[in-house]
Amino acid sequence: MTAIQGGFTASVNAMYDRAVSLMDLSPGLVEKIRVCNATYTVRFGVRLRGEIHTFTGYRSVHSEHMEPVKGGIRFAMAVDQDEVEALASLMTYKCALVETPFGGSKGGLCIDPSAWEPHEMEQITRRFAYELIKRDLINPAQNVPAPDMGTGEREMAWMADQYKRMKTTDINGNACVTGKPANAGGIAGRVEATGRGVQYALQEFFRHPEDMAAAGLTGTLDGKRIVVQGLGNVGYHAAKFLSSEDGARITGVIERDGGIWSDTGLDVDAVRAHIRETGGVKGFPDARFDANGATLLEADCDILIPAALEGVIHTGNAPRVQAPLIIEAANGPVTAEANDILLDKGCVIIPDLYANAGGVTVSYFEWVKNLSHIRFGRMQRRAEEARHQVLVDELERLSRDKGLAWTLSDDFKARYLRGAGELELVRSGLDDTMRGAYGAMREVWQGRADVPDLRTAGFIVAISRIAASYQAKGL
Ligand code: GLU
Repeated sequence: MTAIQGGFTASVNAMYDRAVSLMDLSPGLVEKIRVCNATYTVRFGVRLRGEIHTFTGYRSVHSEHMEPVKGGIRFAMAVDQDEVEALASLMTYKCALVETPFGGSKGGLCIDPSAWEPHEMEQITRRFAYELIKRDLINPAQNVPAPDMGTGEREMAWMADQYKRMKTTDINGNACVTGKPANAGGIAGRVEATGRGVQYALQEFFRHPEDMAAAGLTGTLDGKRIVVQGLGNVGYHAAKFLSSEDGARITGVIERDGGIWSDTGLDVDAVRAHIRETGGVKGFPDARFDANGATLLEADCDILIPAALEGVIHTGNAPRVQAPLIIEAANGPVTAEANDILLDKGCVIIPDLYANAGGVTVSYFEWVKNLSHIRFGRMQRRAEEARHQVLVDELERLSRDKGLAWTLSDDFKARYLRGAGELELVRSGLDDTMRGAYGAMREVWQGRADVPDLRTAGFIVAISRIAASYQAKGL
């Protein structure tokens, strides 16, 4: 069961409805875009530890205005139909906002991954994948899963391998899932991508003084106090990059067992190591511990990054949230009702459909790389190096011919001549995507008096693109 009263899907739809009320779309099209096209439920048995265990899984397809449809597969006990449908709808809007050419989908398996050994997880994952592959719910041209909560490179590698075993003649088999390990068709920078995207989103926000003023913020990210909820893949990378590269201070970290606080800032890697060793944040040296971690969501800070579950900011705690800026690294962390309470208080929310789109953006790069069957960046790098060499040669010739008293240092030449490798290409492509999408969203937010917030603006941009696609192609 999702934690959101009234349901997660209803909460996303309330946000959707607000946006369409400010648009000029026919009621029929509004309804068509809102609804989830189909949700497949599978129950399968796996013989483990001498007994048959039955598992329940889902794959929901929200919108097929573009194919393949795209979205992660979550392994968690709380997975249910409402959750996967809400998450699938968010994928539709997210992909449209960052212009990755996909429809929206999401999957989930009700399981506690910590309860099973790795070889058991492999059996369960392969069996789940088998059920989805049989129905083309994993397929490079139709439906391309990716990691989400409780899954990662390991599960994606099993799923891709399962697909290739079943579809031996599909030369594009590697593109059937994204988020694979580098040595199994993955792409550099996919693991960090969602957290990296959160960092790029905040950097872009801080390039716009008027937007910062709406949250009562000034200056740069340097020294800003940040509270992060969830130090999983997304929260960890966001916190790590923001503290080590932008000078922000991670003053609070909230995990399952509670929250820790340090005015001077926490060392993100040390906290993560502590969690790995002890299973939680309790006992982390030189920090205050509060067993009721949720109270830290209400702490005095500059930026709050919910990077765990949906529905963590609700009508019960929203009135007490002090952060002037919230960036939704998780999907759906603020309920529709809490959203309104926060807006009334002047809080600015950088919404999930934009803030955590870094993952699917880099998934798109991986999918393209798999379909093109070439090591990403290889040709670009050679071409760039050759082009840079022309400039270096010309500068050296000028310096010689004109008898100038300067030369290019070897260090400069080495750094300048080195073309971008896969990781640099991925990061620059992601940065460009995050800047472009923010620009589209803020134009609507700042440009229209009737648009109250970035979320509504993001939905308007996304929905107009989806509507245009339906109008161009038919239903
Ligand atoms: N699970 C991630 C999300 O919610 C990534 C999806 C993908 O890469 O397809 O956006």
